[in-house]
Amino acid sequence: MIQELLIGILGLIAGLVLGRLGANRSARALGTQRAQEGLAYIRGVNFLLAKEPERAIDEFVKAVKLNSDTAEAYLALGNLFRSQGDPARALRVHQSITCRPGLPHQVLVQALYELAQDYKACGVLEQARKALEEAVGKDPKMLPAWVLLQEVQWELGQWEDALKAQERISKLRKSDDRNVAAHLWAELGKAQMERGDRKAARSSLKKAISTNELCLDAYLHLGDLYAQEGADQKAVAMWKRVLDLAPEFTFLAYDRLEHAFFRLGQVSGLEMLLRAQAEKDPFSRLYLARHLRKKGELKEAAQILEVLLQERPQWMEAQKDLIQIYAEQGLQKQALAHCRGLTDSLGGSGPAFRCSQCGHESFELSWKCPGCKRWDTLRPREGFGWDVRGQG
Ligand SMILES: [Zn+2]
Repeated sequence: MIQELLIGILGLIAGLVLGRLGANRSARALGTQRAQEGLAYIRGVNFLLAKEPERAIDEFVKAVKLNSDTAEAYLALGNLFRSQGDPARALRVHQSITCRPGLPHQVLVQALYELAQDYKACGVLEQARKALEEAVGKDPKMLPAWVLLQEVQWELGQWEDALKAQERISKLRKSDDRNVAAHLWAELGKAQMERGDRKAARSSLKKAISTNELCLDAYLHLGDLYAQEGADQKAVAMWKRVLDLAPEFTFLAYDRLEHAFFRLGQVSGLEMLLRAQAEKDPFSRLYLARHLRKKGELKEAAQILEVLLQERPQWMEAQKDLIQIYAEQGLQKQALAHCRGLTDSLGGSGPAFRCSQCGHESFELSWKCPGCKRWDTLRPREGFGWDVRGQG
């Protein structure tokens, strides 16, 4: 790592010093200040070669203090430290720039943006937010700063502010980001629910759905809200929407539906729903088998799982269920045969979700891909039991 860092910095400094000497030679005015600046660079490089980056940085700080023209090069130096996995050092470098008086406007804005990235990388989100707000205050058209600001607001749970930032982002890049705005409304609704403000939560979750009618998270939590209020029929209607809109995500709705039907005393309603849905997605068939097993109808449950496993032999959930049913039926031989199948699929098991855009894999579902930061791109992984489908 230190090698790459050295090469990068030496290149940067060489370009800088040569450029400056050339300019000065033509002007034939190498003043004391410039000479000191040049010496500071040379000392800095020497410290780097001696693997004393701390002292090297001190020299570069001296150099940049002597001449404001070097601020851009110094910005790059800070970025280099951050890219080398040393955001604390980058932070010091960038801080020294933002403190300078009389800095050109665009350089200051860029320095604030870089500083915010350092803060974020150091986990100091409040400071990152402040630096970014200052940056977009000085340059309201700076798209990358708005994007990063919204990311920080998201991490801080400042949903209302993130919604305002999203408006600005969509306007600047002229893009349709209704799905993102809907997620922000849904997150706001969830936070309001946690605070016990059901009225506000209901309004935010409805706003999420009206912003993007495919916002599954909003249906799920609006259903939860209705269930909390004892309105189970309305809750069921919300969760059924998930089944209609995204069969590959029905696994998010079934436990909720099961409890609500149970509270309503409509267990047959659940079975009807599962049978109707079983044609459309494999997960509903798995749930139907589980439901039948609970009712003691082991034979039909086993049949459903056997067919399911012919289509998807690697599906561990289905294999585990079938082994249990065989054991309950006293069919030891069949149970044992499937235990072997289960061992085979262990090798193929892994993260349940994969991003359709960047391929990032995750054990947990998140609506925003942790890899590429795109929205609604994580889908249940092929082989995990569901088809990977495009965004509906
Ligand atoms: Zn991704």
